[in-house]
Amino acid sequence: MSLASFPTVVLDDRFARELPELAVPWEAAAAPEPQLLVLNAELAADLGLDAAALRSPDGVGLLTGTLVPDGARPVAQAYAGHQFGGFSPRLGDGRALLLGELVDQAGRPRDLHLKGSGRTPFARGGDGLAAVGPMLREYLLSEAMHALGIPTTRSLAVVATGRPVQRETVLPGAVLARVAASHLRVGSFQYARATGDVDLLRRLADHAIERHHPAAAQAEQPYLALFEAVVAAQAALVAQWMLVGFVHGVMNTDNMTISGETIDYGPCAFLDAYDPATVYSSIDEGGRYAYGNQPGIAQWNLARLAEALLPLLAEDQDAAIGVATEALGRFAPAYAAAWTGGMRAKLGLPAAPAGPADPEVLDLAEELLGSLQSGHVDWTTAFRALGDAARGDAEPVRGLVLDLPALDAWLGRWRALEPDGAAMDRVNPVYVPRNHLVEEALDAATAGDLAPFERLHEVLAAPYHPRPGLERYAAPAPEDFARAYRTFCGT
Ligand code: AMP
Ligand code: MG
Repeated sequence: MSLASFPTVVLDDRFARELPELAVPWEAAAAPEPQLLVLNAELAADLGLDAAALRSPDGVGLLTGTLVPDGARPVAQAYAGHQFGGFSPRLGDGRALLLGELVDQAGRPRDLHLKGSGRTPFARGGDGLAAVGPMLREYLLSEAMHALGIPTTRSLAVVATGRPVQRETVLPGAVLARVAASHLRVGSFQYARATGDVDLLRRLADHAIERHHPAAAQAEQPYLALFEAVVAAQAALVAQWMLVGFVHGVMNTDNMTISGETIDYGPCAFLDAYDPATVYSSIDEGGRYAYGNQPGIAQWNLARLAEALLPLLAEDQDAAIGVATEALGRFAPAYAAAWTGGMRAKLGLPAAPAGPADPEVLDLAEELLGSLQSGHVDWTTAFRALGDAARGDAEPVRGLVLDLPALDAWLGRWRALEPDGAAMDRVNPVYVPRNHLVEEALDAATAGDLAPFERLHEVLAAPYHPRPGLERYAAPAPEDFARAYRTFCGT
């Protein structure tokens, strides 16, 4: 079907052409009564898509995959994955489609992808659908992460389909249109490896190098350099999650990208009180994906990527394991360097020479984090209050922490380093998607009132600048809410 409103839009099918074994051509399910709930006009413009046209019936057709430009070839992507540690050789897009690739204003290829667009051959027992609440949740959280400067897939639109979705109750259905550097995952490589087809694995690696880590092509061992680049990108990403208090919630290998973007916002949430053991996801009973476990899990997932890449790393298996192990060993120091560098900035201290060892900050942070944990102190509030303390007003932070003599001693040590309060305010957000605010907005939206969602979205778009009248968006959740809070996968 051609799209009169988008005469110039070209959706490339490069992924499907280069990697047909990983691409099942498929069509989106019809949306009986589509209604555009939210559109990201700024992102649309960056993709060369006219926002007004996207609001038209043709545009809504594109955003639900029911009308695609001539030459487009939507596909469900195949991938495997370790889910909570157990390997599934065949997961794939059970309710998602890659519509194709667009080029953004900077000339970079971007996947245009749908979630909730109907059953595919990978659907297994699932209905292929998604509900309005979880799709708006992904929209809100991914755009908040983007505003915080953290690499992430973006959200272009959510369209209510008019189709009811059966979950614990009957919910309104929706399709999310999202945009990513690509949807290549650790699980994509695991899938290719599991087929036993080394040529496919090599083509996938070549595709990933060209698309995400082009410098690797110039290296002596391009596939090893690809692995090293993914290790570096993920170390940097997870450090940013930790510094902002983000808990992904379901860090299965199929939910970890090769690009280093955050992907698949399911049961994710932001920390209220600081505690490394924090788990929000209702399905994470063992706490595998607890806040404090995230760096270790990222490394575990990267080890699975290394295993998948082994046939490309050396002729001899032992030699391949040797180089992969050495490269994986760089995760911990890269993570430590990114985290300590970020913590330096959060504490308003000047950058230190690059390197994982920064005993000054590690020491300060360890003590501070200990008192935040024992005092059940809100992560986001604490760093803004420290900004005030850097400017000479320690009362806000003294009001948060229980052990005041210890805090005062700590403040004395820290202030001797002359922290820069204004610099702190540029890296420590005032507004994050607090769980109680997200739930409030999604409950209202599911009941038909989008105003709280729009308001929260607008607040989160400028997370570092406090604005009068927005005090409740900066305040921690009521204690009883925070203690009992659970997130659901939203499938
Ligand atoms: P996720 O937990 O969202 O990363 O999804 C894990 C796997 O389950 C992927 O293969 C999804 O495509 C699939 N999946 C999740 N929800 C559904 C659904 N409602 N229908 C079909 N497949 C689904
Ligand atoms: Mg997923």
